Amino acid sequence: MYDIAIIGAGVTGAMIARKLSAYNLKICVLEKEEDVSMGASMANSGIVHAGFDAVFGTLKAKLNVKGSEMMPKITSELGVPYKNNGSLVVGKGSDDFQTIKELYERGVKNGVKNLQLITSHEELLKIEPNINDDFDCGLYAPTGAIVCPYTLTLQAIGNAMDNGTELKLGFEVKGISCENDIYSIVSDKETVQAKYVINAAGLFADEIARMAGDNSFTITPRKGEYMLLDKECASLVTTTVFAVPTKMGKGILVTPTTHGNIILGPTSVNIEDKNNKATTQEGFDLISTQAKDRIKNIPFGKTITSFCGLRAVGDTGDFIINSNLPRFINVAAIESPGLSASPAIAEYVADMLSGMGIEMTQKADYDPYRKPYNYFTKLTNEEKNELIAKDPDYGKIICRCETVTKGEIKDAMLRNPKPTSIDGIKRRTRASMGRCQGGFCYPHIIEIISEMLDIPYENVTKFGGESFINLGKIKEDV
Ligand SMILES: Cc1cc2nc3c(=O)[nH]c(=O)nc-3n(C[C@H](O)[C@H](O)[C@H](O)COP(=O)(O)OP(=O)(O)OC[C@H]3O[C@@H](n4cnc5c(N)ncnc54)[C@H](O)[C@@H]3O)c2cc1C
Repeated sequence: MYDIAIIGAGVTGAMIARKLSAYNLKICVLEKEEDVSMGASMANSGIVHAGFDAVFGTLKAKLNVKGSEMMPKITSELGVPYKNNGSLVVGKGSDDFQTIKELYERGVKNGVKNLQLITSHEELLKIEPNINDDFDCGLYAPTGAIVCPYTLTLQAIGNAMDNGTELKLGFEVKGISCENDIYSIVSDKETVQAKYVINAAGLFADEIARMAGDNSFTITPRKGEYMLLDKECASLVTTTVFAVPTKMGKGILVTPTTHGNIILGPTSVNIEDKNNKATTQEGFDLISTQAKDRIKNIPFGKTITSFCGLRAVGDTGDFIINSNLPRFINVAAIESPGLSASPAIAEYVADMLSGMGIEMTQKADYDPYRKPYNYFTKLTNEEKNELIAKDPDYGKIICRCETVTKGEIKDAMLRNPKPTSIDGIKRRTRASMGRCQGGFCYPHIIEIISEMLDIPYENVTKFGGESFINLGKIKEDV
């Protein structure tokens, strides 16, 4: 029996688990996929929004500004890539300037610090030299930042596990019932019992709430497609460059990632199928048209991959963090700026739980720190040599594009939450994230997974389930 069951291991569930793992509570996280961070928390822009976009007084506004202030400390404790690069909204003409002034005023009311209105092309150029000639106004937010979203999720869950939280992967919640104040949460494999339930199931949070008897909200998927440019294009922009927002969102942005690539996107299209993550020609056309309208000379030929994320859009316009059933908390409709807000969402939920009467005493041995992933290239030569002397696998480069060693992959496979697929290794170590997208390193990664998990080579999957990429040995029948 658990004190608390958290459904969903995206950044919301992960940050809540980490926060609650500081208390003497028995906690489990239930996740339907084979790894954590497989939903919206894997495929988003990675922006820590300053907080000028959300409507004053909403949970989005409050938790965004607070979460963004908390992010530097949390990312440093967890060894997560984070950079305070600043955000820049750019516009042209008086209508755009009017909207930008409204954003400025909203930002000031929301508590965003040091916002600056920009009123000339020359001022814009000082921040971003590649802005197109016809842009003449903007809003600069020096507190805007970027973060690696899946590393944040992985490290938050990993840290919660270090502090005693259990993670059950491949646990798809199919039913929830409550008897004598105890919730039973059912999957095909197992039933888990808990006194409190936190529903952080992203796109499926409405279905989870319905299973428990709460029909109060619905979630609609909204597609966001992206193009990712090679690190060679890193000098294109240094800040996150936004268009003037419309009612469908913040528009196509152009931003560096924490790993030195440039990301273009996302589109914003409401769809029906919660599993439709296909990228489309229309998406690319829209991204390229809007991005090149703002930034000069984008080398679209340097696109190394494309991907799509689905926003969990609720029917209230705000995050839905409430409790309509005893000891059952919905943390739903966590669309943008949910990543930025996630540390503050976790505190908000902890306060709700304490208001419900759960006993929350601090663990004496709680440890908030975690060793980073993907660390080899950041070491000094002496440190590298020391590591190689201890384990020669640190001297074997598996991914040439991102310089990832066999030692780091083995280390990632031994740390919670443990990866079992190629994409799991990729998210932790960056092996196969570079220019060749796994052309060189896939066979080596498969070999390491096969060795470490003691499973046949052909049973290794790309992302769990039936996603096999080896169909057999080509020389077998010769
Ligand atoms: C295109 C796009 C761009 C974005 N850009 C930004 C940005 O730049 N900055 C920002 O702050 N925010 C951004 N966001 C928002 C941010 O990504 C989300 O707010 C955040 O990732 C939500 O996390 P989550 O944990 O609530 O949901 P998810 O990450 O989707 O996690 C939910 C989890 O629940 C699991 N689950 C679902 N059903 C079940 C079940 N039945 N049983 C067990 N588990 C289940 C899922 O598998 C999933 O792992 C963006 C979102 C998108 C889609």
